[in-house]
Amino acid sequence: MMASRHTNAKRIEGLDKNVWVAFTSVAADPSIVNLGQGYPDIPPPSYIKEGLAKAASVDKMNQYTRGFGHPSLVKALSQVYGKVYGRPIDPLNEILVTVGGYGSLFSTIQALVEEGDEVIIIEPFFDCYVPMVRMAGAKPVLIPLRCSKKQFITSADWKLDPDELSSKFNSKTKAIIINNPNNPLGKVFTRDELQTIANLCIEHDVLCFSDEVYEWITYKGHQHIKIATLPEMWDRTITISSAGKTFSVTGWKLGWSIGPEHLVKHLQTVMQNTLYTCATPLQEAVAQGLLLNFDLMGQPECYFTSLADELQEKRDRLANIVQAAGMTPVIPEGGYFMLVDVTSLNQDLSHMVEDESYDYKFVKWMIKEKKLAAIPVTAFVGDDSKKHFEKYIRLCFIKQDSTLEAAGNILKNWKI
Ligand code: PMP
Ligand code: GLN
Repeated sequence: MMASRHTNAKRIEGLDKNVWVAFTSVAADPSIVNLGQGYPDIPPPSYIKEGLAKAASVDKMNQYTRGFGHPSLVKALSQVYGKVYGRPIDPLNEILVTVGGYGSLFSTIQALVEEGDEVIIIEPFFDCYVPMVRMAGAKPVLIPLRCSKKQFITSADWKLDPDELSSKFNSKTKAIIINNPNNPLGKVFTRDELQTIANLCIEHDVLCFSDEVYEWITYKGHQHIKIATLPEMWDRTITISSAGKTFSVTGWKLGWSIGPEHLVKHLQTVMQNTLYTCATPLQEAVAQGLLLNFDLMGQPECYFTSLADELQEKRDRLANIVQAAGMTPVIPEGGYFMLVDVTSLNQDLSHMVEDESYDYKFVKWMIKEKKLAAIPVTAFVGDDSKKHFEKYIRLCFIKQDSTLEAAGNILKNWKI
């Protein structure tokens, strides 16, 4: 029978819905103020764009390069991260360059997670973790960050219950995925919080996949700590990052995984048999951008820190706009997203018949009626936690001040 041959593979069963597919197309209309999908509308640094033009002008840079990462890029990554980790990073064996943070997550999970394994994921989570774990045949085990405060909330007020976390570890647990700084919440995990996670990983011999694509974007008073730098964690951690976030070039889709050779070699096996290699000129341009900023590390002009300074003002501007409109923001300690509690708007959406969470309806309604796009936060949690998150929307603030002002005008005139 034809029909049976045309059905989907079991491994993608139930994974057809995707928040980015659903919400990026509706927000594409230029009359909509778009604080939805996370991408900058501020320009990337000029040297990164010039570096790409220069790289593409060299004939051999337009051909295939080394599969696991272009030599100059892995060398630059080993220099920058050697400094950050405080240990030498072997450019050939401890780094894999792939297609974006997504590619790094995918190669990590495909390489190391087995059918029947359990993988602990902290809610709210970047949405692709759950489908990637499922595609590997494993079971996502979710644990929520919880907030007990009602006013003046920051992402630091959202915490894991250590006993609840401990109860999720068992003999089937292969890995825990953490996202630090967290998307969508903006939480930057403290050393104590990371140590609690690390202790459980060590006690139960569990791996840690640490998605740190927003590693450079933390705000004053908050330091990003790599869980891989905690005692005994290097050997069991893969750390994921992205050129898209590092240099505000999300369309470049270059990412990297860093970790011990005995783990990274398995990611390299996935890479050599799936994508094989990434775009050479992009890798060369990112390498040059990293080297330039390596020399500037510790100085205010270094893009690794200057972007966060610029974004801190935008974060505060957006928080004021949201508060002035009578809503409660969750002030992020890192990343470029802000959760906003829309309960106080009392927006009646009972006329919308779709069988969806309140936040999905709210965002759809807001895009259509108010011309303002956001992302519904229940996209980042499992079914059991939806009730705790459905009054939140996520706003992206790596935007020109004029875009933030336009959003402010919409919120100010909400009741009109
Ligand atoms: N992880 C997180 C937390 C993200 O927000 C994103 C968004 N881009 C990614 C991974 C994927 O990164 P990339 O765009 O480089 O694939
Ligand atoms: N990481 C970005 C965000 O969180 C974009 C993700 C995507 O478009 N798939 O908005």
